[in-house]
Amino acid sequence: MDGMLIAIAMMLVLGALLGLGLGIADKYLAVEVDERVEAVTAMLPNYNCGGCGYAGCAGLAQALVDGEVTTVGTCKPCKADKKERIAEYLNTTPGPDGTCLHVKV
Ligand code: SF4
Repeated sequence: MDGMLIAIAMMLVLGALLGLGLGIADKYLAVEVDERVEAVTAMLPNYNCGGCGYAGCAGLAQALVDGEVTTVGTCKPCKADKKERIAEYLNTTPGPDGTCLHVKV
């Protein structure tokens, strides 16, 4: 009976230590993600055709957010209304540094 209580206590202590370790790792090892990349990826056609020169739509979204590409029209399959929506979103939504982009349709 004592052995079982010791095993349960050890499991609780081990669980608490591992949980604490995960909590600390989450706080100090977190990768900052610019949520605009996800939003723009969702607005692109998601054909992942590579016609824009990137491996997929997420690549073009990242390039737009990074300022590497300044024209949404780089994505040829994207419809005009979507291009306008993406440009408006990027031109009005500030990034982590508090500034907006100047992207053309
Ligand atoms: S051209 Fe458009 S649809 Fe094709 S991968 Fe690039 S962003 Fe996606």
